[in-house]
Amino acid sequence: MQVSDHRFLNILLCPNCKTANLADQKDKLTCRQCQSTYPVVNSAPYLIHQELIQQYKQYQKEVASPVNKLKTLIKKSPWLFQFLTYAIGSISYFGWSPRKALKKTFREEQLHGKIILNIGSGIKAIHPEVINVDIFPYQNVGLVTDATKLPITDNSVDMVITESTLEHIPDVELAIQEICRVVKPGGFVYISIPFLMPFHASPNDYFRLTSAGIKHKFAIFEEQRVGMNGGPASALVTLLMHFFALPFSIISTSLYNFMTYVIMAVLSPLRILDLVFYLFPRSMDAAAMTYFIGKKRA
Ligand SMILES: [Zn+2]
Repeated sequence: MQVSDHRFLNILLCPNCKTANLADQKDKLTCRQCQSTYPVVNSAPYLIHQELIQQYKQYQKEVASPVNKLKTLIKKSPWLFQFLTYAIGSISYFGWSPRKALKKTFREEQLHGKIILNIGSGIKAIHPEVINVDIFPYQNVGLVTDATKLPITDNSVDMVITESTLEHIPDVELAIQEICRVVKPGGFVYISIPFLMPFHASPNDYFRLTSAGIKHKFAIFEEQRVGMNGGPASALVTLLMHFFALPFSIISTSLYNFMTYVIMAVLSPLRILDLVFYLFPRSMDAAAMTYFIGKKRA
C-alpha cells in the first residue's frame, strides 16, 4: 500500500507536532497544523526527526566497512539476498515465516482492507498490501522512519510484523512500546528475534530475548503461537562460524568477518538437523531464533 492511499495517509502523524493532519502533495507531505514538510521519495514519505539525520551519518560510517558494503550490494537485489539466506545461510527457516503468519491470520480477500506494517523490513516484500517501514530508504520501503518514534496514530494498525529487527534498535523498549501502542485491539503481532546467536552488526546489535521474554514484553497480546525459526542446529552453526573464524581476527577484523561467511557456507547443510529437533519438545531451550504471534487484548 502506498501513501497515496488515504487509509495509509490518515494514520500518519506529523513527527514535529504529532497531529494526524498531513496533506499529500506528491513529492512531499505537508502538516496542515504546523506547516512542517517531509519529502516523499519513490512513494516513501521520510517522516524523520532532525536527530535521526545525525544518526544516519554514524550509520553510514558503519555501513562503509567492506563486509557491510558487500551486504548492502547484495541487498539491492531482493531475490539474490533471499536465495543466499536460504541456500547458504546459518538459520533454518523451518518455523512460521511472516508470510505464513499473515496467510494464517487473514484471508487473501481480507488483506485489502487492512493496515499491516513490516517494521525493519529492509528490502523484503511479504505481500503487496504490507507497508514496509525502515530507518533506511531501501528499495520496497513505503515509510522511512524511526521505530522508537512511530509517526502513527494509536490503535490504528491491524498487524505489525517485525523480523530480526528489535535486536538492532538501541532503545528497544521504546520500539516495543510503540508496537503495543499502534496495534488496534484485536490486531496482531508477529515478532521474531534471535535468542542464541552471536553478535551480528547490521549496523549494530544490542539485544536478545527468550520465548518467555517475548511473551512478557508483549503481554498486552494474547499468545496465538510461539515457535522457533532456527533451532539448536542453527544456533550451533552460527556459533561455530565465529568459533572457527575468530583466529583470523588476529590479522584483521575484515578477514574475520569474511571468514565467518566462508565457514557459514561450509557448515550451512548442518541446519537440516533442525528438522529432527522439531520432534523434541524442549528444542526451544536452545533455539537460534524465536517468534511470537499474538492478538491484542480488547
Ligand atoms: Zn505538524
